[in-house]
Amino acid sequence: SNGHQVRHQPAFKVDSPNVTYTNDAVYADYKYQSTLVEKDELDGSYRVKPAETVYHFKTDTRVPKVGLMMVGWGGNNGSTLTASILANKHNLTWHTKRGVQSPNYWGSVVQASTLKLGVDPQGNDIYVPFTDILPMVSPNDLVLGGWDISSKNLAEAMERAQVLEYDLQRQVSAEMSKLTPLPSIYYPDFIASNQEDRADNLIPGNDKQAHLEHIKKDIRDFKQANGLDKIIVVWTANTERYADIIPGVNDTADNILQAVKNSHDEIAPSSIFALACIQEHVPFINGSPQNTFVPGVLELAERERTYIGGDDFKSGQTKFKSALVDFLVNAGIKPVGITSYNHLGNNDGKNLSSYKQFRSKEISKSTVVDDMVAANKILYGPKEHPDHTVVIKYVPSVGDSKRALDEYECDIFMGGRQSISVYNVCEDSLLASPLILDLCIVTELMTRIQYKTDDMAEYSPFHSVLSILSYMLKAPLVAPGTPVVNSLAKQRAAMENIFRACVGLPPNNDMLLEHKTW
Ligand code: NAD
Repeated sequence: SNGHQVRHQPAFKVDSPNVTYTNDAVYADYKYQSTLVEKDELDGSYRVKPAETVYHFKTDTRVPKVGLMMVGWGGNNGSTLTASILANKHNLTWHTKRGVQSPNYWGSVVQASTLKLGVDPQGNDIYVPFTDILPMVSPNDLVLGGWDISSKNLAEAMERAQVLEYDLQRQVSAEMSKLTPLPSIYYPDFIASNQEDRADNLIPGNDKQAHLEHIKKDIRDFKQANGLDKIIVVWTANTERYADIIPGVNDTADNILQAVKNSHDEIAPSSIFALACIQEHVPFINGSPQNTFVPGVLELAERERTYIGGDDFKSGQTKFKSALVDFLVNAGIKPVGITSYNHLGNNDGKNLSSYKQFRSKEISKSTVVDDMVAANKILYGPKEHPDHTVVIKYVPSVGDSKRALDEYECDIFMGGRQSISVYNVCEDSLLASPLILDLCIVTELMTRIQYKTDDMAEYSPFHSVLSILSYMLKAPLVAPGTPVVNSLAKQRAAMENIFRACVGLPPNNDMLLEHKTW
């Protein structure tokens, strides 16, 4: 530690024998209640037992000085987030044709949503900002940095992105022009060939081991130069093609480390970044859909006990889908066809106009309803699945203002049909950028939370794969052998209730028994 940690006055104090506050931490003894179900092999009936596990949570409440390093910093998301943080930090206002606009963090679940803390003696619900549940780093205090294969400084990158209003760009331009991305790794085979003309900021050579060491040094240097306690790295660079999983190459931790030494062709730039972060014990989050976390990378993260999360920011169409399909299936309505068209004109769209990169996106967008369909055996047979089609087209004239058109075709009561059409238009980067903040802030918080069960001698960090980030991600990465949850409501409840558990509070349920009884 560089000794920058700030002690925060907690926003509330829990008055319970199970909760202890010290200067540096909050300790909670927590009874986790679950329901164990076993199938009787003979008659097929279920035997159900309520179960209880005691968890002891310890959360370091000192907020460290945090660096957020973005891979693809000069892209639409990276430049938009950087400008927006500066606008918030300096409380800038800017003129638009609709009047004067002031900065905010809308679209960030951590910064702009609330959660129910409890009920006051008069029976009123008390809501607090999400960020009050446990001490979290403020976006305005993040030190920003990162890499890009394009050498444009952040002011030029912001101008190229065409996302923010000119009057705002004008005011942050001088400060942004002093920020320049570090050179990055470019293996042309992994992103679309149409990206070649922006690749003018490259770490030289073809030696992948040297590239790995270079990125590790970049991370250490950035930490040192800015006096940081912690760094979080987020991949917001172009979508890569999938890497082939090759036995002996990227299937185990040892094999992939050796394959990097051999500069094997199938090791993607994003996997090099992930490996660098794992070896530096820096959390790495993948905001794009490709399979950065090949089995060897995942195994190394587990072995090093360091955090990873992914894949692919869940910003617009998919977020809507993971709320709408959840609603439909839970209402007893059966979606039989989901057809999604997208067209967009930003550089992401240009890259996705190439088949292999589109394919990565298609995979990540397609798995999103699987768990909801599997959960309802009344509507769906064992192998039955709604038709699910995803189309993405590059239309330069719409710029960053992405169009997403979805049709949900459903079977309803007595053979009837319901067709729901959704047409979404908005700046893609203004939805994705706040997610980068949420991913960074929640990940940082997770690095300060430890748990212990009664049979453990020491506190332990959580599992390396941060599935708690699922709310922000289209194709959530989970620990091997554990279920993927796509439903947006469940993902949010998991985040909220795990953080409540850390301060010894029961999960929020919506029973409101106090209002339903005499
Ligand atoms: P962008 O094309 O504007 O930015 C990507 C940046 O990455 C570019 O500046 C490019 O030069 C750089 N880059 C490419 N390869 C690199 C490498 N190896 N190292 C360092 N930099 C590299 O795209 P964007 O709109 O900012 O989106 C970024 C990523 O996020 C894309 O993969 C996209 O699919 C994903 N994503 C975006 C959204 C959204 O709503 N905007 C949602 C989900 C996922």
